[in-house]
Amino acid sequence: MDVGHTSGQEVSLTVSEVVLQQVRSLIPPGTDTELTLASSLYDIGIDSLARMGVVNRLEEVFGIRLPEESLHDLETCGDLVVCIQTSLSPGQPQSRTCEVPVSAGAELAAGPEASDVALFPECLALQQRLTDAATAGFQIPFFRIKQQVDAATALVNGQQVISYTSFDYLGMSQTPCVKEAARQAIEQFGTSASASRLVGGDSTILAELDSEIADFLGTEAAIVFPSGYGTNASVLEHLFHHEDLILYDELAHNSIMHGATTSKAQRRPFPHNDYEFLDRLLVDVRGKHRRVVIALDGVYSMDGDYPDLVKFLEVKRKHRALLYVDEAHSFGVLGGTGRGISEHFGVDPNEGDIWMGTISKALGSAGGFIAGRAMLIQYLKYTTPAFVFATAVSPPNSAAALAALRCLREQPERVTRLRQRAALFLKVAKACGLNTGDSHDTPVIPIIVGNSMRCIWISHELLRQGIDAQPILYPAVPERASRIRFFITANHTDDQILRTVSALTECLAASESIT
Ligand code: PMP
Repeated sequence: MDVGHTSGQEVSLTVSEVVLQQVRSLIPPGTDTELTLASSLYDIGIDSLARMGVVNRLEEVFGIRLPEESLHDLETCGDLVVCIQTSLSPGQPQSRTCEVPVSAGAELAAGPEASDVALFPECLALQQRLTDAATAGFQIPFFRIKQQVDAATALVNGQQVISYTSFDYLGMSQTPCVKEAARQAIEQFGTSASASRLVGGDSTILAELDSEIADFLGTEAAIVFPSGYGTNASVLEHLFHHEDLILYDELAHNSIMHGATTSKAQRRPFPHNDYEFLDRLLVDVRGKHRRVVIALDGVYSMDGDYPDLVKFLEVKRKHRALLYVDEAHSFGVLGGTGRGISEHFGVDPNEGDIWMGTISKALGSAGGFIAGRAMLIQYLKYTTPAFVFATAVSPPNSAAALAALRCLREQPERVTRLRQRAALFLKVAKACGLNTGDSHDTPVIPIIVGNSMRCIWISHELLRQGIDAQPILYPAVPERASRIRFFITANHTDDQILRTVSALTECLAASESIT
């Protein structure tokens, strides 16, 4: 028998039980404290930072955000319970299934589902949801199979459709010189890098791509990673430790949250774009940490808005923090020549600290990068797990990105065209009374519908009319903010955009009776 067993068993717990369980897990082992709802968090040794940890955990368990203003008044475990109960919306259950530790030496009841992957409860639950949707007559709008993709159109089930689901903002993946570079790279290096860069060595293409990205952005150095997701997840986890604090915008990309959650640092989401909140928070907590990093997206891919970089830089400087910006949707998009959010705000990129980006979007390829100070890039290149232990970006992908970057330098008018097309879509949609949320100056335009069923219906109806756009539903966004999301590219024509907004307006009107 394994007496050091730490895994637990799943049981249903009330809000009070979950709170006591989470608080108990923070009390140092061996401390003789009887925990009740009246227990003062402070008296049992939970200071304001440890409290952030409990709040984060509870928010994850209940799938809610606790209002920031109420967090400062939390004195007892009971206050936490009330705060959660009032934040749960009426339809949400007041209990949660949680893992509770099994006492050392106890036998775990392992049913057949423990050793048969097809019987994992989570697999069965998803299967049930998909079956229920099919029985109710809904076609799943995800994983649509395309037989061909060409500029701004695609062939779906033999039907030519205008496609708004691609991040190929500048149409690079369809550009002849970019395709040709990928073909030549296959001839020169084969289809795969076949090893990590550290052990397999760099191709001339990857080495040039690193230095041309740095040169384009105006940073000392840059390094291309095999995946954008892996870059955020691994770099944040790798650079920040116990004594550190990662503060990330509540709408930051999942890969940033992943990196923050897997790191050993304290972490806290802050209200979207709220640099004033961040300033107030840092006045309280800056002194308790070694490194503090503020992580933002350059353009938010659900809402199509972007942070006020100048203000965030002020906060960062004031509190001796670091700024980490994910430029996945701003690189090639913002700024007169596509150099991203720093160009948009006329800021020297060396005022920020860590510029993350992807080559998967405006550069028409696949992979991520970090740009910044040469010392940092050198350290990351020798030590970051997602770089050191992963096969490099493939030769055709690195060659495509390099050719696309050169093309972007030679043809900045692509960025202007993208901006004009996005502005046209936004202007016409607003004129038709559509709710475009906070989107401005970017090619990411959500049409907020506020009802998942309506979104699914509209997405299908649009497809029937030759328009491919994805619904974004709860839990990716709150139900009241469910939407159809449009990614505009420089290849969309004015005509396609006008036709789309007109079809969309009609679909919204026709779907009003769906509740
Ligand atoms: N950051 C953001 C903001 C993203 O939207 C994405 C993916 N769409 C990523 C990171 C991950 O990049 P990749 O798809 O290149 O792995």
